[in-house]
Amino acid sequence: MREIDALFVHCSDASDHLGPRVIDRWHKDRGWSGIGYHRVVWCSEGRWVASDGRALDQAGAHVAGANSRTIGVCLAGRYDQEAPPQAAYDALVPLLAVLAFDHGLEADRVFGHREAELYGAPPTPKTCPGSAFDLDDLRERVRVLLQAMRVAELR
Ligand SMILES: [Zn+2]
Repeated sequence: MREIDALFVHCSDASDHLGPRVIDRWHKDRGWSGIGYHRVVWCSEGRWVASDGRALDQAGAHVAGANSRTIGVCLAGRYDQEAPPQAAYDALVPLLAVLAFDHGLEADRVFGHREAELYGAPPTPKTCPGSAFDLDDLRERVRVLLQAMRVAELR
């Protein structure tokens, strides 16, 4: 199993109902082996769901210089003008908390693509997962759930 030291969040910069199969096709069109993200959270008939992308034991293709020890999660949609809807958080936050729990990570190891430099990768001019996406708020939501999961496990 790969050693994982961070989770990266992205947006698809496309309609929120385009899911993993469409993204897989885009990435194949770029000449990649297939979808570069490990998970995709997307909106199916008004309900937000999490789908598998690339296998977790394979390095993804989502942040330049930061793929070998990270997991890439893509939230479908565009978030430069407005924040993701609550229903998207309701699917994204548990997914990130479970991935952090499984890999022994704290919530501060959740990064947005635009924060690549904080992780130690080359800086990116991208706003991904969107200028209106509050990453500190996301980390706080993940932290609260992760803490609850750890307490529950000890009961
Ligand atoms: Zn991205």
